[in-house]
Amino acid sequence: MGYKTLSSPLEHGEVALVGAGPGAADLLTCAAARLLADCDVIVHDALVSREVLDLGCADAVRVFAGKRGGRSSSSQLDICDTLIRFAKTDQRVVRLKGGDPFVFGRGGEEIRALTAACVPFRVIPGITAGVAAPAMAGIPVTDRNVNSSIAFLTGHEVSEESRIDWAALVAAFPVMVFYMAVRVLPDLAVRLIHAGMDPTMSVAVIHNASLADESVHVGTLQQAKDGRITAVSPSIVIIGETVDQRIPWRDLPDAKRH
Ligand code: SAH
Repeated sequence: MGYKTLSSPLEHGEVALVGAGPGAADLLTCAAARLLADCDVIVHDALVSREVLDLGCADAVRVFAGKRGGRSSSSQLDICDTLIRFAKTDQRVVRLKGGDPFVFGRGGEEIRALTAACVPFRVIPGITAGVAAPAMAGIPVTDRNVNSSIAFLTGHEVSEESRIDWAALVAAFPVMVFYMAVRVLPDLAVRLIHAGMDPTMSVAVIHNASLADESVHVGTLQQAKDGRITAVSPSIVIIGETVDQRIPWRDLPDAKRH
């Protein structure tokens, strides 16, 4: 096939596993935009925004293969089968996933299935919500004076079966970014406080980052425990002192940004 750039036109029978970023079309990669504009099929998740989907080629078939709130409307096997089926009938397939395909997105399972089925594919990384949401809210995920590491976790860890060592986590990571944690936020706060985190530690919940209805709610761990921080899915929850460094640049008048 020779050397290709990430945005070279898709071959017939090829799949591109593409990160759609957090939602705003402005935050798509150039490669994502080019491939979307010239493909036959777009297989997308629930989290892919309308404005990103609208950049897709008008003639492309759109297939919803989403999962929401842990409940699957399509099983992972079905999704992999769908991708393989379209590729085997010579379609040029864009598999569009919210954020980055490999961050809590099961992209790994999809490329393993494609490899096993001998389907050629490429991967286009996307901006993951755990990085984009704090940035949109004006919270530096790392800050020289606060942290030199970050933990990215899913809310699924807050379950009876989780074997996570919360005390070790709290000791090792001054800043934690949680995906899919809205439903479990009070439980999560209980565990973190129990593991030694200060109940006055700041928590930010960033909903629909980069979209028109983006919202940010900030409080303390104790308030999160008491259910007093507004949290609506999909949101990123960031916990740590970097939240105190927040400069809500989106709310500042233009003149002050320069
Ligand atoms: N692969 C995706 C994550 C999929 S898990 C990525 O890299 O971003 C789904 C979770 O991502 C949601 O429950 C939420 O926690 C987060 N998320 C995705 N888009 C978001 C957005 N625009 N704003 C806030 N959180 C978002």
